[in-house]
Amino acid sequence: MRDMTMVTNAPKANGANTIPLVPLTPEQELATRARLAQALQMSLDPGEVLSLFYKHIQTLVSVSGILFKTASSDLKIGRECLHHCDYRLTTDEGYLGEIIFNRSKRFAEAELITLEFLLGSLVYPLRNAIRYQTAMRLALLDPLTLLGNRAALDTALRRELQMAERHQHELSLLMIDVDFFKKINDEYGHHRGDLVLCEIAKEIQSACRGSDITFRYGGEEFVVVLGKTDAEGAKIIAERIRQQIAETNINYNGNVIGTTVSIGIATRHSNEKEHIDDLFDRADKALYIAKNSGRNCVINSDDMLINT
Ligand code: GH3
Ligand code: MG
Ligand code: MG
Repeated sequence: MRDMTMVTNAPKANGANTIPLVPLTPEQELATRARLAQALQMSLDPGEVLSLFYKHIQTLVSVSGILFKTASSDLKIGRECLHHCDYRLTTDEGYLGEIIFNRSKRFAEAELITLEFLLGSLVYPLRNAIRYQTAMRLALLDPLTLLGNRAALDTALRRELQMAERHQHELSLLMIDVDFFKKINDEYGHHRGDLVLCEIAKEIQSACRGSDITFRYGGEEFVVVLGKTDAEGAKIIAERIRQQIAETNINYNGNVIGTTVSIGIATRHSNEKEHIDDLFDRADKALYIAKNSGRNCVINSDDMLINT
């Protein structure tokens, strides 16, 4: 059952300030419900659902702004005003969020009744959109390290490459592989191995800049996308990651676990057009050379080309 608890501070409608409105007739309610249901099913994006709702209710109750607050985010449409009325939106699954209607004129009693009726049509489409968005986010997340996964990398890299091509930026890719990770699992167990992966993920992120994006590519492999970064800049960051991880001792129940990583770099130069797979290929080859050069080192695919 829908549970809306109204916590309005809108002044009660009275005398001169009363807007002569009456709640909807049963026929109007039916038509409105049908219209709203049709409109709100057009999107599974919570912001868009709220926008559609905002647009469609204007003919019944004019509002200047809507704010929807959840524990994790705020969605804002229009503007905040002097008068507002707030509702807690609850479904049978629990608390969904708080919705605040704003406008400069007082809300009349009949308008509040209409708003409550209209909210009945919003709650479930909004809940579905939030659920969908959450599922989409989780589908792009590696549950162990909470980094983006391979699917997220694919999308992000495509976007970054497009941007780099459009604005003629350089872009670099780091492919990072933990050295002899199998031995860590064999020696300390899979669970500790997992904890080491989480620690490495943290170290990579802390060695990067805010604009760099780190992903878990799979197993004990990570990829960092460095936007607007040439080969030289990428080398500095890769070295920092390598060094930081080599210096980290991970302490679990008296066991001190040390580890190292090998890193391959590929850079998309500003005047070149390069397919995403080719960039990966070059980073992968550089990583392979790093492994064969004794591990715990950084190899740039550009240097490989110079040497051959
Ligand atoms: P190299 O230096 O050549 O990269 O050696 P390596 O031992 O790191 O490479 P290898 O490919 O032989 O082994 C990778 C190991 O990573 C084997 C696999 O069991 C382990 N692994 C992959 N994913 C996970 C995971 O999610 N958790 C844990 N604990 N281990 C994982
Ligand atoms: Mg590997
Ligand atoms: Mg490895």
